[in-house]
Amino acid sequence: MTLGKCPYCSDGFIEARDKEVRGKKVKLYACSNASWRSEDGEMFELTKDSTCHFKFWQNSLAKYGKWLSYKEVRELLEKETLEVELLSKKYGTKIHYNKYITLSEEYGVSVIWD
Ligand SMILES: [Zn+2]
Repeated sequence: MTLGKCPYCSDGFIEARDKEVRGKKVKLYACSNASWRSEDGEMFELTKDSTCHFKFWQNSLAKYGKWLSYKEVRELLEKETLEVELLSKKYGTKIHYNKYITLSEEYGVSVIWD
């Protein structure tokens, strides 16, 4: 399944791959031109025929209470930014707030803080 065009190479598509990290099922959203020798855990080594290295985890924003759905990834790839609801659990209370997120070649996905 592809979710959109890769923003960092000319002919790649972002696809969802089923992974398991520390016993937890999680999707890796990665460019079709990128593959790694080991895709489980945090150790990534690109294979020689990879022409792109773009990827991000479904739970990249888990510390803000956010998991990225297919629908959100599609929108993010299309519009480059996306407004999402994040959750802060600071000081023992849950605070919901809206922020824009964007793609980054280095970090995958990141929050725009202002
Ligand atoms: Zn790519």
